Amino acid sequence: MREVIVAANWKMNTTPADAPGLARAIAAAIAEPEVVRVICPPAISLAAVAAALDGTGVAVGAQNVHAESAGAYTGEISASMLAGLATWAIVGHSERRRDQGETDELIGRKIVRCVEAGLRPILCVGEQLAEREAGHADRTVRGQVEAALAVALRAGPFPAGLVVAYEPVWAIGTGRTARGADAAEIAAVIRAAIGHVASVAAAEATPVLYGGSVTSTSAAEYLAEPAIDGAFVGGAGLKPDEMAAIVGRAALTARARRGA
Ligand code: PEP
Repeated sequence: MREVIVAANWKMNTTPADAPGLARAIAAAIAEPEVVRVICPPAISLAAVAAALDGTGVAVGAQNVHAESAGAYTGEISASMLAGLATWAIVGHSERRRDQGETDELIGRKIVRCVEAGLRPILCVGEQLAEREAGHADRTVRGQVEAALAVALRAGPFPAGLVVAYEPVWAIGTGRTARGADAAEIAAVIRAAIGHVASVAAAEATPVLYGGSVTSTSAAEYLAEPAIDGAFVGGAGLKPDEMAAIVGRAALTARARRGA
């Protein structure tokens, strides 16, 4: 039985002064232990948020990790530096693919660094609007998953604890959302890709989240899909009441899966 996960990506929002208070407020609103809950603050606030979340059961994630272990990379942060502060790391977010030109090969190396440092990677994948409109969403996502995992699998076994977040680029921060059935279809594509490069067992064990303008209103549509194991939340992840409703809905899914 796969975990049900809700991860909040705060992006470049909050300051070290206000992040711990917000983290505490969200943690208090999402006290649902059946759901794996993760907050990913800006790197500069990781230590303060980790301290604020201590004992709450809510995990801390980094928004990025460098593809090398150490060295002359001014301003960068390695996986081993993050390891004491975070237990998760986002890799391959579409905003970094777009703004930093991150490639699937680089993202694959980031997965390797995460595994070495004991961080659980959240691999973000998703198609552009033009690719969806051309009927190529499945081809794009399959390519992203297979290419990143091929790099990781050259370095070792299937990445421990990997989670994949399906995030159609046209749905991120736009208020537009994928239909639940379409998201489930791409979740199946992601599992087929994992099965192709790794194994069916790895594919079946890997949680797939949906991300892209998820709110308290839209969350149920995704969390009702058996192929989707949770939500990856941006804007709504900064709002305790929104997070409470999303995690509350995720808890229903987790309990239904347990047969409780
Ligand atoms: C994201 O940050 O990946 C995201 C899904 O953002 P939003 O929920 O704001 O669309």
